[in-house]
Amino acid sequence: MPEGPEVEYTLITLKEFEGKKIKSIKITELSQKYNKYKGKQDIFTEFSGSILNKIERHGKFLIWIFNIQSVILNHLGMSGKWIISNKNDYKDKTKHPKIIVNFDESHKITIFDDTRNFGQFRKFENYESVMKYYPIKKLGLDGLMLPFPLENFEEKLKQKKYSNKEIGRVLLDQTLVAGIGNIYKSESLFLAKISPLKIVKNLKSQEIKKLGSAISETLQKAVKSMGSSIRTYRNPYGEEGSAQKWHKVYGKAGKKCEKCGLEIFRIIQDKRSTFYCNRCQK
Ligand SMILES: [Zn+2]
Repeated sequence: MPEGPEVEYTLITLKEFEGKKIKSIKITELSQKYNKYKGKQDIFTEFSGSILNKIERHGKFLIWIFNIQSVILNHLGMSGKWIISNKNDYKDKTKHPKIIVNFDESHKITIFDDTRNFGQFRKFENYESVMKYYPIKKLGLDGLMLPFPLENFEEKLKQKKYSNKEIGRVLLDQTLVAGIGNIYKSESLFLAKISPLKIVKNLKSQEIKKLGSAISETLQKAVKSMGSSIRTYRNPYGEEGSAQKWHKVYGKAGKKCEKCGLEIFRIIQDKRSTFYCNRCQK
């Protein structure tokens, strides 16, 4: 699943279309099989002729802002990705096209390809209404914020609702830090030398700050690596990210820890995998 860094890299790539005029936003024939897109072509006709002013990232969401009131909320879901292609040969590059954004006076086209169909591409009346949409409204600190606000992070983590929970569970809560998913949760905890099983109230202030720094360092490094390509993620030009090459624990159950040689464990927390070293992380 794309996490904050993969969405950020997608955004960096899509920025070349900011300021461009939209020819059309089309819902593909294939997407008509799914309720969320079925019969909704009319909804997007108002974007024809508008200018894409800006795309913003909020946690793992992208918000497309135009020179008209309506905005589009986009989430990549489990396997969604944008593909940039030449208009003539895009069909070979996409197997599950759901949305096609065609720009005026550009030889390029962008396609939202979503194999597992958990992604979102939804119109909202205006920017205010999308900001009020609960999953956006409740987003916590952006994990990619620079400098990452360690004091705020500590304050938020000390909320009562987290105190008796394991840190490995809490880190996936997007209302705490937005943009962390399974991969960077495990990697950040390893970097901070904190066990995912540690109960939040037992974390010392110094450890919390160390964790905050580790989250920031891990996410920033991931953006620089163009994200992690574990299964499906590719950037809009079809290139793989390389962050998986420096992962220390994620996906490495049974392999030896690079630091101490002990076997890396995989456990399940809230139905999600967590990978860690029982010796390096306390
Ligand atoms: Zn180790």
